[in-house]
Amino acid sequence: LDAYSLFEREYESEAEDRIRLFGEIRHAIVQDEFELYFQPKVHMPTGRIVGAETLVRLHKGSSPQVSRFILFAEQVGIITDITSWVFNHAVAQLAAWRDEGLELSISVNLSARDILNTKLMGELLARCEERGISPERITLEITESAIMRQADKVIAILGRLREQGFRISLDDFGTGYSSLSYLKQVPADELKIDQSFVRAIDGPDGDDTLVGLIVDIGNKLGMKIIAEGVETNLHAERLLALGCDTFQGYMISRPLPAHELAAWHHHWVETHR
Ligand code: MG
Ligand code: MG
Repeated sequence: LDAYSLFEREYESEAEDRIRLFGEIRHAIVQDEFELYFQPKVHMPTGRIVGAETLVRLHKGSSPQVSRFILFAEQVGIITDITSWVFNHAVAQLAAWRDEGLELSISVNLSARDILNTKLMGELLARCEERGISPERITLEITESAIMRQADKVIAILGRLREQGFRISLDDFGTGYSSLSYLKQVPADELKIDQSFVRAIDGPDGDDTLVGLIVDIGNKLGMKIIAEGVETNLHAERLLALGCDTFQGYMISRPLPAHELAAWHHHWVETHR
């Protein structure tokens, strides 16, 4: 095989992969087959569970790489169907937990496409009202790059969502290219430090300079700061020393299906009073 045929072969199999993935996503939407997972966020000094991030997976036997399928869905324009599914089911889950006596707050990820979709944005509040869930219990996570793509428009939409009671989180912070003047205008309650910066703490250079800077920026902007991807005691120690005290990551818990989260919650509260 020459180089060109090799390239061609690889290209074809990638195209086949994409077509298969597209089919799996369509199938999951129609057949109602996604699975929701929840990963807790904990305020370390008090042990208080401040919320849980809602994550979605294609059903068993499908691609386990969560981010790959979400990115793909964004590229091909079917992300909004997924977000709508996730939001409906996450709100229903909140209502089910409430009926069992478990009062939880959750966050849901929105993509750039979602935010600019007026119909979808209108539906969020309606879903909450149907289930009697206060929007204050729901944080909308939006990545820094999704905001900066059309900053003026997105900032206005976020302002309206916040007026409706939703909380806003600036997700994967530090990985995009923020304009500082826009950043100041983003109506966010929370800033999530991207896990790449947390990982750098115990990387080869043991670098925590950027985490420190991000904590300063978040504090100056009056946002709560959460570190993502907290996995080791060293991560935890350094983050606490730098003034970041709310964590999400394997050190606390992996993402859990709804029924396991309820059990985890019970156990955590029992052991952290
Ligand atoms: Mg997120
Ligand atoms: Mg994130």
